[in-house]
Amino acid sequence: PPALYGNRKNSQGINMNIQQQWNELASAYQPFLDRQWQAMPVIGGQRLGGSASEVRCPYDLNKVVGTAQFASAEQARQAIDALAAYWPTWNATPVDSRAAILERLAELLERNRAELMALCTVEAGKSLQDGIDEVREAVDFCRYYAQQARLKLGREELKGPTGERNELFHEGRGVFVCVSPWNFPLAIYLGQISAALIAGNTVLAKPAEQTSLIAARALELMFEAGLPKDAIALLPGDGATLGGVFCRDPRVVGVCFTGSTDTARIINRQLAEKEGPIATLIAETGGQNAMIVDSTALPEQVIKDAVSSAFTSAGQRCSALRVLYVQRDIADRVIELLKGAMAELKVGPTHLRENDIGPVIDEEARDGLLAHIQQLKNEGRLIAEATLPAGLNGHFVAPVAFEIEGIEQLKKEHFGPVLHVVRYDAADLEKVVAAINGTGYGLTLGVHSRNEETAERIEQLARVGNVYVNRNQIGAVVGVQPFGGCGLSGTGPKAGGPSYLLRFTNERTTSTNT
Ligand code: NAP
Repeated sequence: PPALYGNRKNSQGINMNIQQQWNELASAYQPFLDRQWQAMPVIGGQRLGGSASEVRCPYDLNKVVGTAQFASAEQARQAIDALAAYWPTWNATPVDSRAAILERLAELLERNRAELMALCTVEAGKSLQDGIDEVREAVDFCRYYAQQARLKLGREELKGPTGERNELFHEGRGVFVCVSPWNFPLAIYLGQISAALIAGNTVLAKPAEQTSLIAARALELMFEAGLPKDAIALLPGDGATLGGVFCRDPRVVGVCFTGSTDTARIINRQLAEKEGPIATLIAETGGQNAMIVDSTALPEQVIKDAVSSAFTSAGQRCSALRVLYVQRDIADRVIELLKGAMAELKVGPTHLRENDIGPVIDEEARDGLLAHIQQLKNEGRLIAEATLPAGLNGHFVAPVAFEIEGIEQLKKEHFGPVLHVVRYDAADLEKVVAAINGTGYGLTLGVHSRNEETAERIEQLARVGNVYVNRNQIGAVVGVQPFGGCGLSGTGPKAGGPSYLLRFTNERTTSTNT
C-alpha cells in the first residue's frame, strides 16, 4: 500500500509499519459505513431546500446512504448574486490568510479521513485503497496550492528604467464555477475549488449528481476551516439545467470543468456566446489511453502495470489504460500472463477488503459498457473475463480483455474495466504512435521498453499530457506528476502543477514614476 499519513505510533509508543497503519484505518472506517448523509444547495452558508432524491450505494442497491436535494435554476441565479457581491472582499483578503484556510482544511481532511473514505465507498463504490488515495490527493491539493499561492501570487518587482517602479501581481477574476465529476468526488472537487478560491475568486461548486453527499460533507469541513460562508455556494443538481444558467451569466468569469469531452464543448459554446467578460474555460476531459510494449520489456512487469492501469477503480479513471499495444514477438506470452492475472481479480462489494474491483457508478454506465462488451464478444475477440460472484446486487461489470486490430476501431472512450489488446510489428512502431495520436485524445501513454532510445522516440512523437515509462500510468501525484492532457483531453494547464493557479487569476502590472 502507498504511504498513508506519516509515521504513527501504536499504544506502546512504537512506530507502526504500513500494514498496521492500514489495518488501523480499515477498522476506523467501519462504523461510518452505516451512517446517513445529506446534501442540499448552500448559499451564503444557508442550507436551502430542493427536489430530493434518495442516494443508493452502487455495490448494494438496497442500501440507502442519504438524501440529496438538487438546486433549481433560480437558486443558481441567487448563488451568483451572492458570490458576485462578496468577491471584492474575498479578493482583498491577503493571500496568506487564504492559504492558512487551505492548510487548516488539509488538517481537517486528515482528521476526518475515516469518514471521508467511508463516504467514497458507499456513495461512489470506491475500494478502501481508493478512498485512502482520494483523501491523500485532496490533502495534497490543499497544501500544494497554499504553497504555490505564497510563492506566486505576491507582488514581483520588474527591472525597468531608473526613476520608475514596475510591479507585476495577480488577483482573482470574479465568480468562478467549478464543475466536477463523480470518479474523484473529493480530490478533483476540492482540487478545483481550492485553486479557484486561493487565487482570489468566489466559487460556485457544482459536483456530479452521483456524489453530492461527499461534496456536501467537504463543504462543512471548508467552513470549519474558516472559509467565509459567502466565498462559496454549493449547488448539487442537474448539470444541463444549472449549466444553462451559469454558462450564460455575464458575471461568471470562468469555468473549471472536469468530465467528458462532449460536456466541455457544450460549456465552451455557451461561454463563448454569453454577454460580459470573455470567460476562461479550464477543461480536463476524457482519454483513449494506450500503453506500448516492445520486445525488450519484462512481461511480468508489463502485466502488473497493465492490469493495475486498466482495472483499478473498475477502470473509471480518466488516466486508465484502454489499449495495450504489444510487439508481436512477445504477444503470446503477454496474453497468457494477462489471462492468469485476470483470473486472480476479485470483484465485489468494495467495503470488503478482499475485493479488488468494485462496481461502476450507475446503471447507465453499466449498460453502456455491457453493450460494448457484447459487441466484441459477438465478433469473437474475447481474451479473458474475470468472474463475477453470484448474488451481487450492484452495478458490477467483470473486468474483460479483448483483442482488436487497432485503436481506430474504438469510436469513443469506454469508461470502465475493458482492456483492448493489439499486436504490432516492430517496423510499425511509428505508425502505432501515429494511430494513437490520430484519436485526437492526448491524456496518458504508457511505455514498456528497456531500450532507452525507443522510449525517448515514443515520448517525442506522442501528443499526450503524461507519459509513464516502465511503470503503471495511473495515480499522478500532486506536485510530482502534474496531470492533464491536450487535444480532446483538455485545455491545460495541469492540475497539481506550477502553472495551474495562474489561469484562475488576472495578471496586472503597475508602473509608477518615482
Ligand atoms: P460528464 O457527464 O461530462 O459530467 C461531469 C460534470 O459535468 C458533472 O458534474 C455533470 O453534472 C456536469 N454537466 C453535465 N452536463 C453539463 C452541462 N451541460 N453544463 C454544465 N455542466 C454539466 O462526465 P462524467 O461522465 O461524470 O465523468 C467521466 C468523464 O470525466 C470521463 O470522460 C473521464 O475521462 C473524464 N475525467 C477526466 C479527468 C481529467 O483530469 N482529464 C479526470 C476525471 C474524469 P451531472 O452530474 O448533473 O451530469
